[in-house]
Amino acid sequence: MRRHALLNHATRAVVAATCAFALLAGCGSADDLPHTAGAIRVGIKFDQPGIGLMDAEHHPTGLDVDVAAYIAWKLGYSPYEIEWVEAVSPQRERLLMAGEVDFIVATYTILDERLPLVDFAGPYFVAGQDLLVRAGDTSIASVDDLRGKSVCSASGTSSIERLVTLLGDTAEIVGRDRLSDCARMVVNGEVDAMSTDNIILAGYAASDDFFGKVRLVNAPFSQEPLGVGLPNGSMALCERINYALTEMVTDGSWQKFVDRHTGGSGYVPDAAVNPPAPIGCETTAD
Ligand code: GLU
Repeated sequence: MRRHALLNHATRAVVAATCAFALLAGCGSADDLPHTAGAIRVGIKFDQPGIGLMDAEHHPTGLDVDVAAYIAWKLGYSPYEIEWVEAVSPQRERLLMAGEVDFIVATYTILDERLPLVDFAGPYFVAGQDLLVRAGDTSIASVDDLRGKSVCSASGTSSIERLVTLLGDTAEIVGRDRLSDCARMVVNGEVDAMSTDNIILAGYAASDDFFGKVRLVNAPFSQEPLGVGLPNGSMALCERINYALTEMVTDGSWQKFVDRHTGGSGYVPDAAVNPPAPIGCETTAD
């Protein structure tokens, strides 16, 4: 299993440099991906505007889509060789464990509890858990104001776990497979709020379907290092992806992608933690 303790900045820099050197020296050349098969299968969200959205013509857009396409390009795949697979929140581990995708870029928090099941490269972005409420609702200014109210989040996520930890049974906590269902429930009055990564919530608030109807509360109460989900034991692939993510920042692509998908939403990434340096890919025997 890969150990994924969050490293301090100095250690991260050393790890990144080591990965880069290992790649140049050929240490990261072992290939986990089929180059002859043509297609690489990438898990993304299909229902998160600005992040991972699949339109009616099967054309994907969003920050995660751009990050995934950049990684695929650095691994030697053109955009046309990518098969996009929907990875709803509670299915992400299963998709990787069953070999149905090669990697996942789907607002996937690097979480200790997930490490026995999957590996992570990254992070490529640090979000924070926040709340989305109806535009006219001034009664909710922080997570504590959810007591006595109802809140929706995606099942099987760090977000819903944190709500349970913070609120226990003082709030009604509703789980759904897709966060777009939560957003609809907020607008319809079925729940008072939804809670997940702020960058996701900003995407809904700025989208055609929800613009003007909902409001990002902007009171983040966690840090969510979003990583690239990989099948367990993907040491070489992890190093190659971390190298690609580092290049994505240094060549200006990271900023371009973030501006493209958050510009105009009013959401500004936390500059104290963005862009993050990838943490190291380490494998340790259990
Ligand atoms: N980042 C959180 C997680 O991976 C929630 C976002 C999501 O459901 O995609 O658990």
